[in-house]
Amino acid sequence: MTIATINPATGQTLQRFDPYSSEEVERRIIQAAESFHDLRTTTFETRAKWTRAAADLLDTEVEELAATVTTEMGKTAKEARAEITKCAVALRFFAAHAESFLADEPLDEPYDVGATRAYVTYQPLGPILAVMPWNFPVWQVIRFAAPALMAGNTGLLKHASNVPRTALYLDRLFDRAGFPAGTFSALLVPATAVADILDDRRVRAVTLTGSDAAGASVATIAGSKVKKTVLELGGSDPFIVMPSAQLDQAVEVGVRARCQNNGQSCIAAKRFIVHEECYDEFAERFVDRMSALRVGDPTDELTDVGPLATESGRDTVEKQVAEAVGRGAKVLCGGQTPDQPGWWYPPTVLADVTPAMRIYHEEVFGPVAQLYRVRSLDEAIALANATPYGLGANAWTRDEHEQRRFVRDLEAGLVFLNGMVTSYPQLPFGGVKRSGFGRELSTAGIREFCNIKTVWAA
Ligand code: NAP
Repeated sequence: MTIATINPATGQTLQRFDPYSSEEVERRIIQAAESFHDLRTTTFETRAKWTRAAADLLDTEVEELAATVTTEMGKTAKEARAEITKCAVALRFFAAHAESFLADEPLDEPYDVGATRAYVTYQPLGPILAVMPWNFPVWQVIRFAAPALMAGNTGLLKHASNVPRTALYLDRLFDRAGFPAGTFSALLVPATAVADILDDRRVRAVTLTGSDAAGASVATIAGSKVKKTVLELGGSDPFIVMPSAQLDQAVEVGVRARCQNNGQSCIAAKRFIVHEECYDEFAERFVDRMSALRVGDPTDELTDVGPLATESGRDTVEKQVAEAVGRGAKVLCGGQTPDQPGWWYPPTVLADVTPAMRIYHEEVFGPVAQLYRVRSLDEAIALANATPYGLGANAWTRDEHEQRRFVRDLEAGLVFLNGMVTSYPQLPFGGVKRSGFGRELSTAGIREFCNIKTVWAA
């Protein structure tokens, strides 16, 4: 894939970037390894000061950075600003809590293991490679960097090829905030360069956020090198609505959950599984609200849905819908690619989707909702789990028995009851099945890239 800034709203190429030479990549790996040597012995207090300074920079520069993000990947200006503000919050969260998350853990009864003192201590691993996607081009990176740097690791970012300006902004952010030079560095390289970088003995681990295909490829290489891996991959989240649900709210949140980020979120609600007792009412209101969304210029504050980020992404969505319709799916709204420059696709609702269609099994990375009618709780759970993915799950019910069943039986890393799946720095984030393994955020996230060292003293 060419490394370039292409405005998805117009299809116009604004800037192309030459990939870094192998000498430049080597220079940056050396710097990441050398700065790790210094960083690992700095105090939490010092790292927290720099991390807070990075948050302050994001707050100060939110408008400029949001404009870059909107230009490169097409999310609405208001969503771009919200993403950046959330990043500042996460940086401050880890600045405040990393020390307690990584505090030594003494064994209460050291004599049981024949010691006078025994404890666990958390230490950074070294330079970590982060392979990141374009859909939340600031958040995905900060979600990795904030805990990783606070733990004392350094970072090498291979960002998606369509967000190079954002990557270069992030490349400078941590230097400007006061971290030692090279603590966090972007590598403008194609995906084909990842294998060699991962092969480098100085690179100690890898985290990848992206498609399951990219995740499987990187995990295969990392596995052969015995390097720690965290994978945050795709999802096809269910949004289950039971008869006791607060329907107005479920409709409102369901539309937002499907169309946030122009429909391109791993945790977007993609499959709406609705009990037959409330199906007709939900479907009617949901289709009305989806049809009423304002599609247009992402820089316009009134726009709800902008273009898809890439031409190939738009083409994939178009083909998924066409194949489903060809096999009998019913289009309740949308479903037609507009004839205009840029990578546009309208909010779309499909019914009568069957396992014979690709869309039943695949992730749809665009504003296309599938509606399913079910007759029981068991059927809802079975359908929700009938996907290779297991990232998030939304379930709407006020019945406590049903809530317990959803928590127990949904195959997902995140279950949100009567609310929209989202991420918080305070809570672990990640999936099961083909949605990946490992966790980001919270205590679990910061410990992923630590050596959990056991200390035993006679
Ligand atoms: P993608 O094509 O997998 O790309 C993600 C990153 O991986 C990019 O930097 C890409 O580089 C790189 N890459 C692709 N193939 C690779 C390979 N074989 N080896 C090494 N690196 C490779 O995904 P995307 O289209 O950008 O992002 C959308 C996907 O990400 C969706 O499936 C979405 O659900 C998932 N996602 C998951 C989460 C989560 O937290 N679970 C969050 C956001 C997105 P190039 O750009 O140079 O190809």
